Amino acid sequence: MSRQKKFILQENEIPTQWYNIQADMVNKPLPPLNPGTHEPLKAEDLFPIFAEECARQELDMEHPWIDIPEEVLDKYKNYRSTPLVRAYGLEEAIGTPAHIYFKNESTNPLGSHKVNSALPQCYYCKQQGVTNVTTETGAGQWGAALSYAARVFGLECAVYQVKITMHQKPYRSSIMRTFGATVEGSPSMSTRAGKDIITRDPTHPGSLGTAISEAIELAMTTPNCKYTLGSVLSHVSLHQTIIGLEAEKQMAMAGEYPDTVIACFGGGSNFGGLAFPFMRHKILEGKNTEFIAAEPNSCPKLTRGKFAYDFGDASGYTPLLPMYTLGHDFKPANIHAGGLRYHGAGTIVSQLLKDGLMKGVDIPQLESFDAGILFARTEGIIPAPESCHAIAATIREAQKCKESGEEKVILFNLSGHGLIDMPSYDSYINGDLRNYSVTDEDITRFLQDVPKVL
Ligand SMILES: *Cc1c(COP(=O)(O)O)cnc(C)c1O
Repeated sequence: MSRQKKFILQENEIPTQWYNIQADMVNKPLPPLNPGTHEPLKAEDLFPIFAEECARQELDMEHPWIDIPEEVLDKYKNYRSTPLVRAYGLEEAIGTPAHIYFKNESTNPLGSHKVNSALPQCYYCKQQGVTNVTTETGAGQWGAALSYAARVFGLECAVYQVKITMHQKPYRSSIMRTFGATVEGSPSMSTRAGKDIITRDPTHPGSLGTAISEAIELAMTTPNCKYTLGSVLSHVSLHQTIIGLEAEKQMAMAGEYPDTVIACFGGGSNFGGLAFPFMRHKILEGKNTEFIAAEPNSCPKLTRGKFAYDFGDASGYTPLLPMYTLGHDFKPANIHAGGLRYHGAGTIVSQLLKDGLMKGVDIPQLESFDAGILFARTEGIIPAPESCHAIAATIREAQKCKESGEEKVILFNLSGHGLIDMPSYDSYINGDLRNYSVTDEDITRFLQDVPKVL
């Protein structure tokens, strides 16, 4: 029996534009606000922190298609297209009639989808004469991707890594240093924000929120240095749409179209990257595709958060963003999916969720590793702990198909591999991991600090 498992595009078939869903959305995301005046921000207001082109893309509600610069496309071709794979092994293990496909974003040497946005962000910085970039990183995938991309375009790179994950995943800082970046655990004593946090809470494990505050402070106080972000913001999801645009062509090669599109959810970039190109057919042509974002149940902003204007970081340095949030002070449990420990959702996905175009599901930590191990044993790829959440959500859907007999086509994003996360797998196999839940009281308490705007 011969059956095709893998669908790959030729270099000349790789998309040459990104898709900006903001242009097609019926209800546009609400604008980011100046935290002092509550005035809507213009792109120019973001120029002091971000590359100008990224700031323009962030607020672009007009152009659905944005050209990928030649230089970026050239670097994309080092590792793209990424394969679309039919997960026959997983289907058989579940015994489901569903057809399960995954887009494998783990095949580049950095090991996750993050490099898709690191390259254009560094390119745009270089193009306007910036010499230094800085950022935060959780589990370290973004920091690793940025360190590499900075090197490619000849920029210096400084990374603040969430302290707890720096210890959980020591090899990621080795990777960043190998590419020539400097790496600090956050909260650190090297910034005002870090010192303030440590003074209030000396054992603070760090969060993406604390690391973002430190990186923004460094960008604002260092000449010719820009801040970059690996998730949450709209221009990051824009760059990630290369995933879904490729997948659309590859699904056509397989002669199928997804009924259900699934990705794990930290701030929304790999979800948006895979989902938005398919969602455009839902918005423009009324296609009946279901979109599911899988978040950890210990950080449930989509399923239990509140839609409000909130800060993107712990110290209130960012503009106010309209998002589903658990409150910018929310301290997520120390789960191993470090990339999903973020208090808020990007503004585009927040609006789409509010409008019922997608839904969130929450996955307990143990279920995510159960799913990851089944996937590893059936497909031969050890998934990133973040990606395990997408796999768990996929298995739930495939099991529903088993019960109903429906032959649904499910597409999920394998956002990264877990080869540098093996201590997490060891803990799971040794029985040392547990589930964390968040009480309603906790959520109410943290939401009290959300600024009163809406
Ligand atoms: C960062 C990361 C995520 C979460 O971020 P999103 O912006 O929500 O995609 C998920 N998976 C992997 C492998 C990551 O590195």
